[in-house]
Amino acid sequence: GRVFPLPSSPRVLTVANQKGGVGKTTTTVNLAAALAREGARVLVIDLDPQGNASTALGIDHRGEVASVYDALIRDEPMADIVQQSPESPNLFCLPATIHLAGAEIELVPMVAREQRLRGSLERFFATMDEAGTPFHYVFIDCPPSLGLLTINAFVAAREVLIPIQCEYYALEGLSQLLNNISLIERHLNPELAVSTILLTMYDGRTRLAFQVAEDVREHFPEQTLRAVIPRSVRISEAPSYGQTVISFDPGSTGSVSYLEAAAEIADRGAPQRGH
Ligand code: ADP
Ligand code: MG
Repeated sequence: GRVFPLPSSPRVLTVANQKGGVGKTTTTVNLAAALAREGARVLVIDLDPQGNASTALGIDHRGEVASVYDALIRDEPMADIVQQSPESPNLFCLPATIHLAGAEIELVPMVAREQRLRGSLERFFATMDEAGTPFHYVFIDCPPSLGLLTINAFVAAREVLIPIQCEYYALEGLSQLLNNISLIERHLNPELAVSTILLTMYDGRTRLAFQVAEDVREHFPEQTLRAVIPRSVRISEAPSYGQTVISFDPGSTGSVSYLEAAAEIADRGAPQRGH
């Protein structure tokens, strides 16, 4: 197969879109699994109290399990929380439990409340450096809102990946998301950039999906990946087996398209800075 180049320092990508059901979680876990399959060490941070990414990666996230909540609110080291996914020995997850639902409120009075995740991740990276086993990619799966959890994700990352569902209302709300990202860039994280846009749930039989894809490419020619994720039953079935489609049905169109998207992300490398 193809050889994916590995980044020399960890790439941290926040997968965001304040709309629910556009494929954030599906994209997070499948890109992570694809990159892990090709030899990258990958960490998924599940920042959605629903815990769907944890489920899809076969990770225990019952209420009593240590979770990203403990890192964010109680300063527990990520090293004590991280679990290995049965998907791949290269794939790890910081699970979300139901406790995370309260974090949005609990963060409000905290000092440097927007930087909690970043601080925790930096401390984790520092211990990794000592142990000599760094991560190549970190994907942060966001809840469908622009609250403090999502802000923490934007501050912890350098890259934003936006999944866009190929349907009529796809671009609605996108300008609000982009405005929020530029506010974060100006005030909290000057390194943040929208590096990647991925078209999801593409139905090639409809003229509409084609038109939405064209519009997105016209607005974001640099960011939009050539690979497009088709609507596929296999993709939606995989999580109920605690698997990604990459391991559940490796030869399916959904799996192949996520592997192609992952290859593009790897080949492009981290975005170059400079305004
Ligand atoms: P979000 O995290 O943005 O809320 P999800 O990734 O959970 O979105 O996807 C929403 C629903 O759509 C889920 O049931 C998921 O299984 C399904 N889904 C996601 N991508 C696809 C796809 N390419 N084809 C078919 N179903 C999909
Ligand atoms: Mg989700």
